[in-house]
Amino acid sequence: MLGGIEAGGTKFVCARSVDGNKITDQETIPTTTPKETLARVVEFFSKFPAKKIGLASFGPVDVNRQSPTYGYITNTPKPGWENENILGDLKLALPMSKFAFTTDVNAAAYGELKAGSGKGVNDLVYWTVGTGIGAGIVIKGKILQGYQHPEAGHILVKPYAGDDFSGVCPYHGDCLEGMASGPAMAKRTGKRAEILTQDDPAWRIEAYYLAQACMNVTLTVAPERIILGGGVMHNLALFPMIREAFKKLVNNYVTTPGLMDYIVPIGLKDEAGVIGCFKLAEEIN
Ligand code: ZN
Repeated sequence: MLGGIEAGGTKFVCARSVDGNKITDQETIPTTTPKETLARVVEFFSKFPAKKIGLASFGPVDVNRQSPTYGYITNTPKPGWENENILGDLKLALPMSKFAFTTDVNAAAYGELKAGSGKGVNDLVYWTVGTGIGAGIVIKGKILQGYQHPEAGHILVKPYAGDDFSGVCPYHGDCLEGMASGPAMAKRTGKRAEILTQDDPAWRIEAYYLAQACMNVTLTVAPERIILGGGVMHNLALFPMIREAFKKLVNNYVTTPGLMDYIVPIGLKDEAGVIGCFKLAEEIN
């Protein structure tokens, strides 16, 4: 049995699977305090044991195995979770299980590679655009990680002509997340992204920032595919706008696969993270 824990800032999804492709048991737990939430995670896996569990957490997290704080959530603004040893606490409470550990966005990228829109390629970038923005980068079938995991959601972007919005990122103001996350769209327009009409000019602005995100990863890691998911991407009308803006920005400087196959929507929808957890769990020796 394979287990998956998608630990998000608002909810934890615990799941189990026989084959790593289909969820057989699942429970959603609200993210309150570490003590309360993790107790419910442990309760789930006591009821539905799994020998191998993929744990994918909101972050930033420490993914450096040499680090004394490996497996910790580090500097989150979420009260109570700063410096939380999430991997250590779960290992201690579930001693019969072996764990794989990564970020929530990395797990979703891996799920997409193995079973979603990334099937058939080895190199991809998965962007999630929602409450925050994050990217999971997979190169030659492996999640890319250096000293720590990339935080590409906070790359710098140039402003859309006439956009004088100052951004919502508490660290950088007008970084990509500051300018193009769901909260950024809401603050710029005064309306939540879900209720903006298709022809609202805010989508053009959004597409311009996301096209820059796609351009930057094209120039730095040259993936075979770029996949976009998350709440803001539910508006599929964004895709042609992003492709168009991307084409203009790149200006034929580099070649990429045809844009219809290159910049594509998420395949596994809300299950990408959990399926990715199963796939990572499967590979534990
Ligand atoms: Zn930022």
